[in-house]
Amino acid sequence: MPLIGCHISTEDGLENALARGRQLGCDAIQIFTSNQMQWKGAPVSSDTAQKFQTAQAQNDIKIVIAHDSYLINLASPEPVKLAMSRKAFSEEIDRCEALKIPYLVFHPGSHMGQGDEIALQTIAASLDNVLAKRPDARVQILLETTAGQGTNVGYAFEQLRTIIDLCQSNNRLGVCFDTCHAFAAGYDILSPEGYEHTFEEFDRIIGLSRLKVFHLNDSRKGRGSRIDRHENLGDGELGWTVFNRIVCDERFASLPMILETPGGDENFAKEIAILKNQI
Ligand SMILES: [Zn+2]
Ligand SMILES: [Zn+2]
Repeated sequence: MPLIGCHISTEDGLENALARGRQLGCDAIQIFTSNQMQWKGAPVSSDTAQKFQTAQAQNDIKIVIAHDSYLINLASPEPVKLAMSRKAFSEEIDRCEALKIPYLVFHPGSHMGQGDEIALQTIAASLDNVLAKRPDARVQILLETTAGQGTNVGYAFEQLRTIIDLCQSNNRLGVCFDTCHAFAAGYDILSPEGYEHTFEEFDRIIGLSRLKVFHLNDSRKGRGSRIDRHENLGDGELGWTVFNRIVCDERFASLPMILETPGGDENFAKEIAILKNQI
């Protein structure tokens, strides 16, 4: 049975996210480990780490996933921004280690006008740079499939494969599949045949063994729109059939599946309950 959950705000403190997740019916949660709109993130104190782990056990949250800050761009063509991004990403890893978080999801990056190919090379170099300085970190770094909005890269499976191939420490990399992003990027996960074909392609190009997390979001915009607008499950272009199909897919039966849909906690609780009912 997949581990269903949602993104939980940590504005009331990291350790409070676990109880909140349980209240909403989560078996897995995703968090930002620091303010996602600020460059400066405080390290996690040993007291907070202790409380976090106790709360995780008490609330029976099977897995916690971290999402990196929106400011980080590991593909930045500006040397200062790139250095800041690499430093901030290293600190993301440190916080995951302190909290014993097994997966750090990140948006691969934006080329900012320099083109996709250079961006993919810069991302791989950034990952090598950061991971070489953290040889013992256990957290796995998950590349998220993107919608390809603006200059974002990572919208084609081939691009994720390129980053993986170029990265020396690619045994530490995995992938997070976002349903809204993949659909907006042009992958047909709506029709049964398209769905099968999409995951065959994923397996052929990336390998299903690298798939570690799903983001379950409906899409406000159509297939191939390259616009990243999440919608509540069932209210967008995908519809409930797609989400029911994913949570019942044997291949993904042990994976965490995280909602990042609009509408706040009340809505999360409702969507989680409906999903769990389908399994
Ligand atoms: Zn996502
Ligand atoms: Zn998105």
